[in-house]
Amino acid sequence: MAVVERLDGEPGERRRVRLASPATLEPLGVLEIDDAIAVRDAVDRARKAQVDWAAADFSERARPLEKAARLLAANADAFVDRIIAETGKPRTEALAAEILTAADALQFYAKRARHILADRTVPVHLLKTKKLRVTHSPLGVVGIITPWNFPFLLALNPSAQALVAGNSVVLKPSEVTPDSGRLVAELWAEAGLPEGVFELVQGDGETGAALVEAGVDKICFTGSVATGRRVAEACGRNLIPCTLELGGKDPMIVCDDADLDRAAKGAVYGAFANAGQICTSTERVYVVDAVADAFTRKVIEETAQLRQGAEGEFDIGPMIQAEQLDTVEEHVRDAVVKGARVLAGGRRNPDYRGLFWEPTVLDDVTHDMLVMREETFGPVLPIMRVRDVDEALALANDSPYGLNANVWTRSKRRGTQLAKAIESGCAVVNDCTITYGVTESPFGGVKQSGIGRVNGEQGLLGMSHTRSILIDRVGSRAEAIWFPYTARKTAWMKRILRTVWGTSIGRWLA
Ligand code: NAD
Repeated sequence: MAVVERLDGEPGERRRVRLASPATLEPLGVLEIDDAIAVRDAVDRARKAQVDWAAADFSERARPLEKAARLLAANADAFVDRIIAETGKPRTEALAAEILTAADALQFYAKRARHILADRTVPVHLLKTKKLRVTHSPLGVVGIITPWNFPFLLALNPSAQALVAGNSVVLKPSEVTPDSGRLVAELWAEAGLPEGVFELVQGDGETGAALVEAGVDKICFTGSVATGRRVAEACGRNLIPCTLELGGKDPMIVCDDADLDRAAKGAVYGAFANAGQICTSTERVYVVDAVADAFTRKVIEETAQLRQGAEGEFDIGPMIQAEQLDTVEEHVRDAVVKGARVLAGGRRNPDYRGLFWEPTVLDDVTHDMLVMREETFGPVLPIMRVRDVDEALALANDSPYGLNANVWTRSKRRGTQLAKAIESGCAVVNDCTITYGVTESPFGGVKQSGIGRVNGEQGLLGMSHTRSILIDRVGSRAEAIWFPYTARKTAWMKRILRTVWGTSIGRWLA
């Protein structure tokens, strides 16, 4: 069973892959793969177009973003239909996570970019004869490489940030979900983006690797740890910056004072939304012994309410990629062999032809199981009982990943302390998964979950080259530090050192 099937062609022909719906396995068409020459051509076109785009003022650059948000609002159903065709997501989920979040991001960057990227005067604390201006200019051409789990949002959002900062963009969407990438390109064209400022190349890993080598000025990569490492190596060789938004194994900690009804619903949503294919999915739960029975019972009750389906109203869709379904199966099998109990699901859904895995709850799990150590990226919720919060914290941090985390307690103070103690790029108290969707929130991982931050102010600054311009305010004949070096100058500097940093009044003034 394959959703992406590589086709054999004649020598010299472009490579092609055949695509099928993950929900029904019905054919979706054939994708022609762009080779390295096509990628270079796209980068060249983007580089030429970037010159005028960078010269445009903020209101001109914000206009396509605002128009794109309006187009999304007016045609939401049409966008959702196309995204669903290649992902099988529930309609409400596609609308909330792909369209609504995208519209919010577009409006935010359209409004705020002018302020965030404005030139600033920064007070100079020592050399009062100088004025410091900090400015932000575009990087040039930004290459964006994206995965299949949120194929529209994860392509549109970084491209909006790059574009409003004055860059042009070459997007390489996942070969699993190329039509969502096409949808982003169509949206930008209809929103009035000048030709060449946004370019789309289609293909698989080879096309992505070609983009990294094609002379772009930055790579924004979202995907797996293994590919991220290859991308980082290539960026290192080419000495270009990159952000790497990689996988996660997000822990959930349930304290003894948690609101268990909300925590159980949050666990089920956090683990099963988008069929568990969210980088910030809840992938492992640590629940304090005193409340473990009650919490687990509620989780099972909530899971039993979920409707899996392929059309109409349903909560859980299919896995989007066939290999990912194999990973889910392997993790559950490994857990069961090592002694885990299946409390719900635990198998492919026999009612469907497509890539459906039943929402699965496991307990009696241990840290030597794949399901507690490696990213499962599917609808699986392993629950582990712990003595107390200290043990939960130690286990949460016993992971090579560090993307997101969630903690559940009635005390917001305790929740914040715990969130700070977890080794992760982001954390949530009494909620889950939403960190990428809150536009202002800088997003990214620690450890193997990634490098750099996207979104919000930091995301926009990351799309810019920050430059210091130091301006002499006085215009004296010569600076004291300039030649010639004399014993008098040395003595004068020592006096300054002693006065400014050697006395308490001096330190206070400095
Ligand atoms: P993947 O790494 O297989 O592919 C991601 C993209 O990289 C695709 O477009 C692919 O064609 C391309 N690619 C593959 N080889 C390449 C190479 N050598 N050079 C350049 N590009 C190459 O990931 P996936 O299976 O599409 O996505 C799932 C993964 O993405 C999960 O691990 C998930 O956690 C992660 N993810 C992370 C975030 C985040 O923000 N941290 C968000 C969504 C998904």
